[in-house]
Amino acid sequence: MIDDIFAASSAAFIQYKNIPASTKADFLEKIAEILEANRPTIVPLAVEESNLPEGRINGELGRTTGQVKLFASMVRDGSWLEATIDPGDSHREPLPKADIRRMLIPVGPVVVFGASNFPLAFSTAGGDTISALAAGCPVIYKGHPAHPKTSKLVAECINQAVVESKLPDGVFIHVEGGIEVGQALVKHPAAKAVAFTGSFAGGKALYDLAANRDEPIPVYAEMGSVNPVFTFPEKLENELVPLAQSYVSSLTLGAGQFCTNPGLIFVPKAFEIPFEAAVADAIKDLAGSPMLHPGIAKAYYESISYYQTRNELKWIKVAGPQHEIHGSPAIASISAADWLSDDAFQQEVFGAFALMVVYDSPNELMEVAKKLHGQLTITLWGDIAELKLHAALINLLEEKCGRLLFHGVPTGVEVGYAMQHGGPYPSTTDSRTTSVGSGAIKRFARPIAFQDMPQELLPDALKNENPLKIVRQVNGKFTVEKIK
Ligand code: NAP
Repeated sequence: MIDDIFAASSAAFIQYKNIPASTKADFLEKIAEILEANRPTIVPLAVEESNLPEGRINGELGRTTGQVKLFASMVRDGSWLEATIDPGDSHREPLPKADIRRMLIPVGPVVVFGASNFPLAFSTAGGDTISALAAGCPVIYKGHPAHPKTSKLVAECINQAVVESKLPDGVFIHVEGGIEVGQALVKHPAAKAVAFTGSFAGGKALYDLAANRDEPIPVYAEMGSVNPVFTFPEKLENELVPLAQSYVSSLTLGAGQFCTNPGLIFVPKAFEIPFEAAVADAIKDLAGSPMLHPGIAKAYYESISYYQTRNELKWIKVAGPQHEIHGSPAIASISAADWLSDDAFQQEVFGAFALMVVYDSPNELMEVAKKLHGQLTITLWGDIAELKLHAALINLLEEKCGRLLFHGVPTGVEVGYAMQHGGPYPSTTDSRTTSVGSGAIKRFARPIAFQDMPQELLPDALKNENPLKIVRQVNGKFTVEKIK
């Protein structure tokens, strides 16, 4: 079965990688259109399977189709190809200069593992699938067992777009099955890249598997993080209560089931008591809300139980009794000295749990920053004057994350051209890439240089005439002009 899947995918690749950009963009837009037309069926199904509220799922579908349209417009625009031309010079002395033209081309069939916490935007027609399709790669999608019916329905929408666009069947293949099936997909010699969103254990296992193939392939695994928030005295002096409230709102949003959930907050000793009180006040009446599935709720309460065995913690709010599906928010405090003593305090708890770490001095904060694991995001809540005094800290924190925020909270990831959703290991397996935003397409393309290739044979993106009218770098300068 796996061989048949890859035979279809590889055959489709030969055709799909060569279709005009406008046909590919039309295909992507058709996916968005069909998803939108099926909103009345998709939304209730996703709500039923994920326990997420209807408003959230409706918004997520909008985010999904918005994402598809973003990639369609990029494909039309063509500048993502990074067409770069160093024209030749046969008269150069002492040796003639070769004509070299480089651009990005798709890598081949991509295996995508969707996330449980975004049944639409990070799943079947999510950012990984769509950025791979936009790059010109067929996708083999391994459905997530937490929302099988939604996954199948969305796959049918994509397949309908494939048929209506007269593309080969193998452009998108939806596969159901467990861990063995997922591993067989990653191991298959025809797979050229893997995209994954989920647990550290899953992402790392697939990364190792791909690295140990006869032909190693890249695995872009987004495995989440604890997204620390650093707070500073002047800012707290002026805005303590609203900051505590916005922290609690971000922490408990969606039962804390976000990879950007801020599970760690550093608070100066002088503000320990008032900040703790403000957080306790903001969180006290928040009841548990349903988690994605019983397995996630069980994992959440197991993590809480572990932390309850640690004497270093003082509980600001304890979780309610273990529940089969509801995740009750919890927060505990710990001194920075204790936090520094054990890496266990850096582990992600998937759900609305946070550690408030109380620090004594800027020096201690530097020690924290040195020890901190790689993160998707780090947030700094400080006034400009005090942040200027922490230039060395900020410099160090740049090395630890993919997105550094100076206002607001890390939950709520914009889908745009400048977004970076991917940080140093262990938050992802490749911090040079992003899984959200237009940059995600680069994961599924590789550069190729054509040397002295005749004009008639060159891809349109590199021809002198610039028939696609795309922005290119010619002799080092960005231009849409043709080459004379
Ligand atoms: P997961 O257990 O990592 O599973 C994600 C996908 O990867 C599933 O399709 C799963 O297959 C597959 N998979 C997992 N381990 C594998 C392995 N060793 N070999 C092959 N395939 C493997 O993630 P989840 O079910 O979504 O949630 C579990 C935990 O992941 C959560 O409690 C949370 O800690 C974390 N999580 C993180 C994020 C994030 O944003 N980074 C998002 C969601 C969840 P099957 O399940 O079909 O076997």
